[in-house]
Amino acid sequence: MEQLDIVIIGAGAVGLAIAAEIARKDRDIYILEKETNYGQATSSRNSEVIHAGIYYPKGSLKAELCIKANPMIYEICQKHNIPHSRVGKIIVANGEEEIKQLEGIITKARECGARDLPLIDSDRVHQLEPHVKADAAILSPTTGIMDAHGLMDHYHREARRKSGGDPLVLNTEVTSIKQKGDGYVVEMTSGGESFSAKARMVINSAGLHADSVAEMTGIDIDEARYRIHWCKGDYFSLTGKPPAKMLVYPPPPLDAASLGIHTVPDLTGRLKFGPSAYYVNEITYNVQGSKDEFWEDIVKYLPDIKRENLHPDMSGIRAKLQAPGDPVRDFTITHEEDKGYPGLINLIGIESPGLTSSPAIAEMIGEMVQEYL
Ligand SMILES: Cc1cc2nc3c(=O)[nH]c(=O)nc-3n(C[C@H](O)[C@H](O)[C@H](O)COP(=O)(O)OP(=O)(O)OC[C@H]3O[C@@H](n4cnc5c(N)ncnc54)[C@H](O)[C@@H]3O)c2cc1C
Repeated sequence: MEQLDIVIIGAGAVGLAIAAEIARKDRDIYILEKETNYGQATSSRNSEVIHAGIYYPKGSLKAELCIKANPMIYEICQKHNIPHSRVGKIIVANGEEEIKQLEGIITKARECGARDLPLIDSDRVHQLEPHVKADAAILSPTTGIMDAHGLMDHYHREARRKSGGDPLVLNTEVTSIKQKGDGYVVEMTSGGESFSAKARMVINSAGLHADSVAEMTGIDIDEARYRIHWCKGDYFSLTGKPPAKMLVYPPPPLDAASLGIHTVPDLTGRLKFGPSAYYVNEITYNVQGSKDEFWEDIVKYLPDIKRENLHPDMSGIRAKLQAPGDPVRDFTITHEEDKGYPGLINLIGIESPGLTSSPAIAEMIGEMVQEYL
């Protein structure tokens, strides 16, 4: 049986970022990915927003890692020619109640260390985005958009360069993980055949399936509160000239499942709206949401949008730890020594802002690996 130092399960943005951080010529690493290529799941089905860490609770990993990673992403993109744009974002309010909501968001964001978030008036909003209807808005100049595939290509290149080979193993699904001696026997299937390898460390970054992968090790995922709830988000694209160049968000809905239907400009100049949020039991990527509901949300802040110019576009699925109606949950990133699994690191519930946070998550895992190996 092959003896490895580290197995990373899942080649999305997070698994690849970790590989890019921890790969070394003297370390045997595999990244195991069940699909035919990397980044086929959530990492290629999202808004590609470089978040500024505005909404997350103080002391949460989401706030800490996103705020840390925002400038890292810009630096990586600039240095490695990854398409990106610092388009900026406004969170708009109409009416007293929504303005109060924005003031609350600013206070919380400042407590977390997200600064440079002025509350601007309707004249300033009009100067920035003439078609947007708003009595006031929070302006976030450090929010932007990026090419998520470009970022993942970079992580993959970096992992190859540092390891002196290609650690990525595609078409390979992990089916079982058993603790043995000072490591883990990882069983996998590829092309109908089964293989196994022994690794001193296992890093579970399996996205929508990270709870099932954690369960393979013997962890009781209900006791550990690791069960993932899939929460789908649809996008509708707009035909015609985009009425806004910035990211324009409504105040976040009170259900805490999403940030609301916002504009999603992409790097080619197209504009989408989304993502919605509804819980599902199966992974399918057809757009199921109602155009009417999208349109009703959008015209609150972009009143000129015509219903007939909206078209079903794409969808993505969030790996949420919070069940429907539950309060927001944080990322879970844990070295499971305390549960009796030294060398096992679980990353569970890496929903938004996971793409933005990926380089900071990778640094955090790098420190855990450094301490252990
Ligand atoms: C609608 C939506 C919008 C979002 N918008 C943003 C945004 O604008 N900005 C932002 O920062 N974040 C955003 N996010 C969050 C972001 O997309 C995720 O946090 C991030 O992509 C998670 O990456 P990952 O590598 O953990 O998961 P994934 O990309 O899902 O990768 C996990 C991988 O594990 C593989 N895998 C699973 N099980 C196994 C197994 N048993 N064996 C082998 N391989 C396995 C899967 O095939 C997959 O490739 C959004 C998410 C959604 C759903």
